[in-house]
Amino acid sequence: MADSRALLGRPVARNINESTSDKSIAFAAKAGRRPKLAVLTSSDPSSQSYLKTIRSTAKIVNCDTLEIPVESAWDLGTVIKALDSLNKDESVDGILVQEPLPSKINLDRLGIVIDPRKDIDGISPEQSGRLFRNHKSALAPPTARACIEILDFYRYGLEGLEVVILGRSLVVGKPAGILALSRNATITWCHSKTQALQSICKRAEVLIVAVGKARMVNETFIRPGATVIDVGINVDEDGKLCGDVDTDRIRSIATAYTPVPGGIGPVTTACLFDNLVRAAGYRLKK
Ligand code: NDP
Repeated sequence: MADSRALLGRPVARNINESTSDKSIAFAAKAGRRPKLAVLTSSDPSSQSYLKTIRSTAKIVNCDTLEIPVESAWDLGTVIKALDSLNKDESVDGILVQEPLPSKINLDRLGIVIDPRKDIDGISPEQSGRLFRNHKSALAPPTARACIEILDFYRYGLEGLEVVILGRSLVVGKPAGILALSRNATITWCHSKTQALQSICKRAEVLIVAVGKARMVNETFIRPGATVIDVGINVDEDGKLCGDVDTDRIRSIATAYTPVPGGIGPVTTACLFDNLVRAAGYRLKK
């Protein structure tokens, strides 16, 4: 089989950002202010790098950002207090909490603290419920959305296909599966306790990988002709950024794959801001 197609994220992100920017301008004309994203930031290098992308995307889509650095001494109570004040701040439309958080603070727990109307990361029970019910106002976790947006953009339909998701986190694996289900795919989720992992993955016509293990997925996981979505962001032993998929080893078997960097990453940021502007619009209507 010939070398497979790299599904680049930038054209997809550009397309989403254009529409977000239009919605944002329309919001500002009505509300008299721009949509605003508040971020509880982490000093972790990968979070800082995501923050830079957030800042530059905010400019492109005509949104404002407010950064609140989470200090290492913060406990759960301090984080909750900061979130409470953002919940009450009428000028804030969306809240993002960057991980990793100081020890013992669990992002899942914070999902019940953030006002669901401002939960643009889709971690609150209310947003999860909307996603589960395939509600059009659901704010799905941006990375999970990015997996579907990239397939849509490059016209890889999901209907009737066997989709395997490697990973079951609240922000990627689970919601990506629910979104694929809403496109009438047949879904299997795999995780760290899955037996016969390779043979299950080998059934996949579309394989979505979100495990956080550098280049774990190689040719032994891939069905010939599969489309492979690599969500992972890892740093290998040489300090090089890489995904969960060993691209060099799957390229001759898969039909298409998302590269790392340059695949899901830019689309995730675009989906984050699309969620923000939608959340701002919903609050304005009420
Ligand atoms: P989590 O650590 O929350 O979840 C990882 C999942 O992978 C878990 O469900 C875990 O199973 C499963 N898993 C771990 N090891 C194995 C294994 N050996 N075999 C099978 N399953 C395994 O990670 P996230 O979902 O938050 O992120 C996944 C990756 O995506 C990371 O590399 C992260 O950096 C990246 N990421 C990228 C984003 C982007 O914008 N591109 C955004 C968010 C994340 P179990 O549940 O049993 O523990």
